[in-house]
Amino acid sequence: MQPFVYSRAEDAAAALRNGNASLPSAVESANQYLAGGTTLVDLMKLNVMRPRMVVDINALEKTAAQIELGAQGLRLGALARMSAVADSADIRKNFPVIAQSLELAASAQIRNMASLGGNVLQRTRCIYFRDTSYPNCNKRTPGSGCAALEGINRMHAVLGTSRDCIATYPGDFGQALIALDAQVEVQGQDGKRAFPFAQLHRQPGASPHIETTLKEGELITAFTIPALPFAKRSLYLKIRDRSSYEFALASAAVALDLEGDKVRDVRIALGGVATVPWRAADAEARLKGKGLDDQTLTEVANAAFAGATGHGHNDFKVELGKRTLTRALKQAAAMEIPT
Ligand SMILES: Cc1cc2nc3c(=O)[nH]c(=O)nc-3n(C[C@H](O)[C@H](O)[C@H](O)COP(=O)(O)OP(=O)(O)OC[C@H]3O[C@@H](n4cnc5c(N)ncnc54)[C@H](O)[C@@H]3O)c2cc1C
Ligand code: SF4
Repeated sequence: MQPFVYSRAEDAAAALRNGNASLPSAVESANQYLAGGTTLVDLMKLNVMRPRMVVDINALEKTAAQIELGAQGLRLGALARMSAVADSADIRKNFPVIAQSLELAASAQIRNMASLGGNVLQRTRCIYFRDTSYPNCNKRTPGSGCAALEGINRMHAVLGTSRDCIATYPGDFGQALIALDAQVEVQGQDGKRAFPFAQLHRQPGASPHIETTLKEGELITAFTIPALPFAKRSLYLKIRDRSSYEFALASAAVALDLEGDKVRDVRIALGGVATVPWRAADAEARLKGKGLDDQTLTEVANAAFAGATGHGHNDFKVELGKRTLTRALKQAAAMEIPT
């Protein structure tokens, strides 16, 4: 691990002063915030991230870890721990997809440490990104090529890829946020702003090292989830190689508004198969106004993966993703909704 300066920020203003590095955060040596450290410290030990300064933001927990549920919806502080949110009885009842996406992630120990803000900013698990003995990784070293294209790419993405990077976005919580129309609140040197969570992540295109639309040094402060009338009929289905402590091969976060046996409204987000938390808007449009019969579900799943491209080892993800989505929609339709 490369030596670095450690600084503990007592409030957001202090965090922003140090977090606002003179280099873009995509550069490996840019300053980094430290929340739970479960991604950052791993990558520092691997020499993949080599920040000059680490700004510990855990003192902000006093003000930025609240879980607030009101008539307008749910507000989750970015420093809230994954386990605290997953264990909340109110969230489990009213926003099940949120609780499930967190509960099915990582391990109990990691969920106790890891924050929501750090979760959505976790980096890809692409083996070539995490192993610096491979020189060709455009995400780690821009312009160096992509080892995964010709290498082992079983875990890689089939949606949102580019010639320069096919790395999968590994998280689960991000899909739940998209399925419930969440907004993200951020604070930077220019003040505060909020925008749809679906706009936080960037597809790789020709610059895979730039992963988000955050401005230099911006701090994520909270996530807000509106009181969608059908948030109670939402779920997260995660398919993986083993049933715990494993990243998704394919996942689906769905929320369903039913009128009798017809779908009045729906949200669909896919994980494990795409370079960013992926909203399947075409699939949603196909399902609105229809029943959940087998033919419709086949059309919906085909629409969700219409632009999918496999790269050899991961070809199976197209069919697996379709089946995961179909099963998630059927399970959501069959849910008993608590009053
Ligand atoms: C073995 C293992 C298995 C895992 N399995 C899963 C899984 O199945 N599903 C899943 O979703 N995740 C999984 N994870 C990832 C885990 O959930 C993340 O490591 C964790 O959520 C990151 O949160 P953190 O608070 O520890 O972030 P940190 O490591 O502290 O920070 C991560 C990044 O986010 C930045 N950051 C942190 N907070 C903020 C903020 N408020 N504003 C701006 N920037 C910020 C940091 O600068 C850093 O770049 C796994 C991790 C491990 C180690
Ligand atoms: S898929 Fe992306 S992260 Fe993985 S080696 Fe290629 S450029 Fe690097």
